[in-house]
Amino acid sequence: MSSAPGSNGCDVAIVGGGLAGGLIALALATRCPQLHLRVIEEGARAGGNHRWSWFASDLNAAGTKLVAPLRKAEWQAGYEVDFPRFRRVLDTRYRSLASHDFAAHLAAALPAGTLVTGKRAEAVAADGVMLPGGERLPAGAVIDCRGFRPTRHLRGGWQVFLGRHLRVDRPHGLTRPTIMDARVDQTDGYRFVYVLPLAADELFIEDTYYQDSPVLDRALLSARLDAYAAAHGWTGTMLAEETGVLPVITGGDFAAWQAESRVPGVARAGAGAGFVHPLTSYTLPFAVETALAVADAFAQTPGLTGTALADLLERRGREHWQAMGFYRLLGTMLFGAADPAERYRVFERFYTLKPSLVERFYAGRSTWTDKARVLSGRPPVPVAAAVRALAGNRPRLYLGAQQQRDSA
Ligand SMILES: Cc1cc2nc3c(=O)[nH]c(=O)nc-3n(C[C@H](O)[C@H](O)[C@H](O)COP(=O)(O)OP(=O)(O)OC[C@H]3O[C@@H](n4cnc5c(N)ncnc54)[C@H](O)[C@@H]3O)c2cc1C
Repeated sequence: MSSAPGSNGCDVAIVGGGLAGGLIALALATRCPQLHLRVIEEGARAGGNHRWSWFASDLNAAGTKLVAPLRKAEWQAGYEVDFPRFRRVLDTRYRSLASHDFAAHLAAALPAGTLVTGKRAEAVAADGVMLPGGERLPAGAVIDCRGFRPTRHLRGGWQVFLGRHLRVDRPHGLTRPTIMDARVDQTDGYRFVYVLPLAADELFIEDTYYQDSPVLDRALLSARLDAYAAAHGWTGTMLAEETGVLPVITGGDFAAWQAESRVPGVARAGAGAGFVHPLTSYTLPFAVETALAVADAFAQTPGLTGTALADLLERRGREHWQAMGFYRLLGTMLFGAADPAERYRVFERFYTLKPSLVERFYAGRSTWTDKARVLSGRPPVPVAAAVRALAGNRPRLYLGAQQQRDSA
């Protein structure tokens, strides 16, 4: 057994039971079952209200094994993309996990008492977590997984979307996801609709924008989703809805960002620690990798201190930032060089490339040859504008008070 500090304490306190925190808990519970864990989540259940998707090729064998027990949608028939000039089917398999299935799995798979929901962490420290009412949870190590917070230290744009889960009146007949249908009006930046056939009579459709502002106009996006569904003959009942306002990071001062929310001795993981694909805003592949790395560290070093874990994850965060430079550059060109109505051309051109290159791009593992291939050939944006964009500064990824209200 472990040496939990105090009778109410734990070896590892994970603050935030979202994607990153939940995956770390699962990885630790599997690999180091002797550790006493606590996951402190302020929401009524873990995971929030999300649907997380990824490509099978994003994960290695260990990552695939970690997510194998989760109930999820899996498509064997590849996926398609639709642009004004072409439609393409790629073989890569796609996966999608609903947060309520994630929450149910965490509740069932973690030892009783591990998951504490409806409790907000007021503050974190190297040796424990402050809870409401002066309660304190002592912990051998603390991992802060409280999600991304807008910051003045990073720059870029936003990916804004409204997604809707529908039960349709008649079978829709779709066999594979459409990851991007960019044949829709391109009025507010790069816009596409995303369609997942979750069952013969269930669809998830999402209207997504790569835009300069973080404002989500729910009524407008809702009307556009209605119009898209009607144009495809999909009528039925809405089962659930989700919204997202995610950062598309094109640059910034990563060291200053790390310093901004660093608490000495507290490890950080998830989107709030920078484990994100800067251009797609996806985090699942990196959350899986980080969870496995945390479990490896505890398995290899019994009694690993919170400070050692904090150093390890900070270093991994810096390495990840360095490895993502190419995607930040593409994001800079997407936002800075292309007129909003023309941004789709960047992805249209990208989707003419080899499937294996596309897979490595989404996984954040592009090779030098891939990068050269993406940047060579006839540019999808004017060269002079691209040069200007690269020389300039994108806006800060910071929400003013009004924007916070608009996007709430
Ligand atoms: C609607 C939506 C759809 C997305 N779809 C995808 C996708 O398909 N694929 C993909 O890879 N990425 C997707 N993302 C992006 C990204 O993967 C998610 O945002 C992901 O959930 C980030 O994981 P995280 O654990 O860092 O943060 P979160 O999952 O947001 O988890 C943070 C958790 O911390 C909790 N918390 C915050 N403060 C406290 C506190 N003080 N005390 C206790 N708990 C606290 C929150 O309630 C939350 O549950 C999506 C994001 C959104 C919003």
